[in-house]
Amino acid sequence: MVAAGYAVPACRGAALACPARRASRRAPRRAAPVGATSGDASDSSDRVSTLQNEGAYAVLAKATALEREGRDIVHLEIGQPGFATPTHIVEAGVDAIRGGKTKYAAPDGAPSLREAIAAHVSETRGVAVSPDEVVVGPGAKPGLFFPTLALVNPGDTVVYPDPGFPTYRAMIEVAGGIPAPAPLRPDGASFDMAALADLVRSRKPRLIVLNSPANPTGGVMPREDVEAVARLAEEHGAWILSDEIYSRLVYADGDADGDADDAPSTYAKEKKAFSAFSVPGARARTVLVDGFSKTYCMTGWRLGWAVMPAHLARKVELLAVHSYGCVAAFTQEAGVAALTGPQDDHAEMLAEYRRRRDFVVAALNEIEGVKCPVPQGAFYAFPDVGAFGKTSAEIADGLLRDAGVAVLPGTDFGANGEGKIRLSYVGEMATLEEGMRRIKAYFDGL
Ligand code: PMP
Repeated sequence: MVAAGYAVPACRGAALACPARRASRRAPRRAAPVGATSGDASDSSDRVSTLQNEGAYAVLAKATALEREGRDIVHLEIGQPGFATPTHIVEAGVDAIRGGKTKYAAPDGAPSLREAIAAHVSETRGVAVSPDEVVVGPGAKPGLFFPTLALVNPGDTVVYPDPGFPTYRAMIEVAGGIPAPAPLRPDGASFDMAALADLVRSRKPRLIVLNSPANPTGGVMPREDVEAVARLAEEHGAWILSDEIYSRLVYADGDADGDADDAPSTYAKEKKAFSAFSVPGARARTVLVDGFSKTYCMTGWRLGWAVMPAHLARKVELLAVHSYGCVAAFTQEAGVAALTGPQDDHAEMLAEYRRRRDFVVAALNEIEGVKCPVPQGAFYAFPDVGAFGKTSAEIADGLLRDAGVAVLPGTDFGANGEGKIRLSYVGEMATLEEGMRRIKAYFDGL
């Protein structure tokens, strides 16, 4: 019994694991005043109390407000491909609507799409996958969130990259897990492997999140690091959640996995990040997440997938049944066309991103005080701007207010992002040139 007025100490993260929060959960909820209509932030569950927004939305809102005041803003904050969805994919979706594919579909995904995904993953990761191990979702995000809910009990530790995609921390918190951020090495290409090994040995996580190629760093983990993580996971009985949404955006000036050049198919010829799923024996405790948003410029179609052992897939399927129900059937037809149709648009897009990356990274490194490693994947640059004696939030604010350039502070991706900013180079070359001109002028003036 908790006395009325008992002061419950605040806990960060781990909502359900925190004893104070458990105590507060037993306390009767204060009734909302009769007739109250205004929102009260405290009148929500512990589960959502520590959730933060994705920084990109906040910066976009600030930038849009300035545009309404008549300011000209260069947008380098958004991680959304500027290219249109390839025509044959759009047509497959439209034909499907006209053909009546407008009814409920299977909660785990249309069989034709799960087959296409299983074939694609088998080929690209070199491991035989069957359709009953595939769960289709509205974007890649449910493929991150639902397996986490299905694996993590309140109080379980989850290791994830910091800086890293903000959804990782959010899904851990909602599951009641304890977030254990793992630092990256200085060029952002991989974890600081010694720190990761210490963290796994001391905290014995239930789950380790990998993201290669990575948001926000553009880093592509070397094969030996992925193998080392898989070994650590096996030694400590942890699952791996491998977010590979940028799997088809790899420039690989170095060589992430070796093979490829004399391979038989389009996919196999592409440079690839090495996947944890490909480590022999690892797949029994690995969830692989990928999707259509970045590869086929389909962010708004909401289509992605996760591959996992069939027993876990059935639990994730139930979470789909009871939340979004199913993904639109016509969207899934577009997905089949994307995976099985021509890949020329993708190859052109990749070449164009590479040109833009080379330009942006060179322009950043020409600015005195700015240091930018060359990212090997995704479409982000993550330069070090720590030399200017300001926080990354101050720099992002200054760039927006004084130079009219929207970027994200590194701290939007975790505390270890301090001293960095994230630029997305998905925009047209002319936009990038103007953005880099303004950024240089801003830093030169500090
Ligand atoms: N993972 C990472 C690392 C991402 O950057 C994003 C999108 N920004 C996603 C997952 C989510 O992808 P989707 O839009 O397909 O849900």
